[in-house]
This record gives sequence, structure tokens and C-alpha cells, in this order.
Amino acid sequence: MAPIPVPPNPPSWPFPTFNIRIHDLDHEGVDAFLDSVNPKAVLRTAVQASYQWLYTTDSEAPKVQELTLILRSMPGVAHATGSTTHKEIHFSLDYIKNVSKDRLKEEIQGVLVHEAVHCYQYNARGTCPGGLVEGIADFVRLRAGYAPPHWKRQGEGKEWDAGYDTTAFFLDWIERRYGFSTVLELNACLRDADYHRRLFKQLTGRPVRKLWSFYCAHLKELPEGSVGVTVQTASGDVEAEDEDTVNVEKPDEEEDDDDDYDLIEKERDVVNGGQRPQRALILKE
Ligand SMILES: [Zn+2]
Repeated sequence: MAPIPVPPNPPSWPFPTFNIRIHDLDHEGVDAFLDSVNPKAVLRTAVQASYQWLYTTDSEAPKVQELTLILRSMPGVAHATGSTTHKEIHFSLDYIKNVSKDRLKEEIQGVLVHEAVHCYQYNARGTCPGGLVEGIADFVRLRAGYAPPHWKRQGEGKEWDAGYDTTAFFLDWIERRYGFSTVLELNACLRDADYHRRLFKQLTGRPVRKLWSFYCAHLKELPEGSVGVTVQTASGDVEAEDEDTVNVEKPDEEEDDDDDYDLIEKERDVVNGGQRPQRALILKE
């Protein structure tokens, strides 16, 4: 399979001013962080990855003026917050302290890529499903080369918008199948309009539920034990098999699928106590 092309990286990306705040220099995580990485370099790499995989130099990226990294003791891993122009990434020193030394540099960079994406991605004015927001963040982390070794492709039994690595690998498969920059175009669609599941059909010609069923079938074709990060997806043979199935469908049937999907979404809402899925740009890791 041909490798995914790396998007151009022009020197003209408008980087924000980078700041760092450290709360409690006595915390063991501080030395671990500073011994592993250069703060400015890892922030710059994180922002660069967000630009590279979600925008072109011609597209309208959010104009973040300042990005502040805050290292402090807190539960969890990290989260992004702030206004449109002034963003903060809060990163847990307790988490950093507990990452093994041989993984720490990669893990710090990977987490910062994920959080930087939250600072730069569009979220359909707050209506994008949280799982898709998280999936896009981890898609960029995956493409930037910072996927941790425990990530794996998961299909049957999960939902396409489960988020994180599950959705990231699904988006990766969609791009490999339907064309480079599909996720970039998806992000652009999330800029000014409310989210609608038909975005996937507009971009790929297939409803997202159908895409997910193809993806689940594709994962079953992969050799045992090959769903991890280091194994490339999809041989051309498997892709061709999927296409045979695709060609049987008619457009009208796909519209029916959309209606079915509507019902499934409503049912899931009932299961969730009538709550809509989490929809916000500011999300915890
Ligand atoms: Zn996140």
C-alpha cells in the first residue's frame, strides 16, 4: 500500500506566542518534563501538526495569538481551554511523573499534539459529537507519528464515534480509502455550520454507518494480532473486496440508511438518559 503523503509544511504557519507556567517546582514531574523535552520545541511541533493535518495555507485556521502550557498537579492527563485567541493547555505533573522514562518524550509530545488540535480544530459551533472531536485530535496524533504503543484498531462492538484511538483509526481508514485530506475537509465543514451526520456522505458518498460497517468488516480481514499501531492498515485486496460490496448499493438505499441512523441516534439518546452526546471543544483528555 502506498504511504500516506505528508502535507507540505511551509515556514509561514502563524505560530502563536508560547508561554509556560509551572505550579510547584518541587513536584517530581517538573524535572521529568524538563529533562525530557524543550518546552518551546514540543509546543511548536504540536501546533505545526495541527496546521499540517487540518489546514492548508489557503484555509482559514483559528487565529490563536497565545498558547500557554500550564504544568500542575491535577487528576487525569491534560485538557485544553481558553478563548478563541488565548488558549491554555493544562498538563498533569502527576501523570508525567508516572510515565516510564523511555516513553516520556514521545508521550509528552503526543499529548501536546492532541491538546493543540483542540485549540485549533473546528467543532461545528459546539454541535460536533465529542467522540468525533476526540477522534480528530487523536487522528492528528496518529498521523504526526506519536501514537502510543497501546492504541489499537477496534470495530465490532464499538461505535464509530467512540472517540480517541477507535475513531482516529476509523478516520485514518476513511482517508486511505476515500482520499487524502478527507479529514481536513471534514474539519472545514465543521467551521460555520451545525454538525450533521450527512457530512460523511457529502465527503465520501457513503453514510457514516455504512462506512463503519465496511471498516468493521475490513478489520476482520486483518491477520490476527495486527490491529496495533505499528501495523499498516488495509492491503489493497481488502479494499477491493469492500468496493465490490459498495457497488451493489443504490443511492436510494443509502438514504434509507440515513433514516435508520437517525433512529439509532435517537435510541442511543434514550439509553443515555435523553442526554445528547458530549459536545464541546474544551474536553478532558
Ligand atoms: Zn481530547
